[in-house]
Amino acid sequence: MLRIALQKSGRLSDASLKLIKECGISFTNGTGKLKTVADNFPAEFLFLRDDDIPRYVADGVADVGIVGENVVVEDRSAVTIAQKLGFSKCRLSIAIPRGESYQGIESLQGRHIATSYPNILGDFLKKNNIKATIHEISGSVEIAPSIGLADAICDIVSTGSTLMSNGLQEVEVVFHSQAVLIQTPTLSNEKQKLLQKLLFRIEAVQNARN
Ligand code: ATP
Ligand code: ZN
Repeated sequence: MLRIALQKSGRLSDASLKLIKECGISFTNGTGKLKTVADNFPAEFLFLRDDDIPRYVADGVADVGIVGENVVVEDRSAVTIAQKLGFSKCRLSIAIPRGESYQGIESLQGRHIATSYPNILGDFLKKNNIKATIHEISGSVEIAPSIGLADAICDIVSTGSTLMSNGLQEVEVVFHSQAVLIQTPTLSNEKQKLLQKLLFRIEAVQNARN
């Protein structure tokens, strides 16, 4: 039986469940349940917080999982991306207070940047030879400049309306993300076969959508 980790509730949940359903896999999910077995496929679903999914998959508690690529890359857990899924697209961007002058990436030199993605941001700054101070905060990153905690932020953007309403302007795109199917590095032959079967169905769903 293949153990599949999905986000319990959030921006990935609906599209993840829709994909599973379109793959012809059904289950009766009692609301609030953390675990359920599929009716017509040898799979068990675990419903977790998205942040926990890479670690569960890396540890082999779950065999595969659906999570944002941003979370996988930030987490640095030992998992493999088996398939990009094409939904929950967003980007990780740096934003500064609107109206402040910006002359390109050098403007970030020596600045303080608040983010929940210190690893991805750190790699980006290093690659661009920018020395800035990263302040790791876990939520409400977009208010950091207005309360004097940082000069800039690095956060998830999809439409930009959250930035707008917090008086921020997007100045650099750091990372493009979408939902991905991740797998544990070592799967038994039997589970590998089940995963192939699942991937085959996902591919068919994706082809039908395009
Ligand atoms: P959890 O309670 O599971 O920890 P969360 O609040 O951390 O959830 P969500 O806001 O549900 O996470 O976002 C989950 C993922 O969806 C993000 O990691 C990202 O990949 C993607 N995502 C985030 N914001 C957006 C957005 N505005 N538009 C599209 N996708 C997004
Ligand atoms: Zn989360």
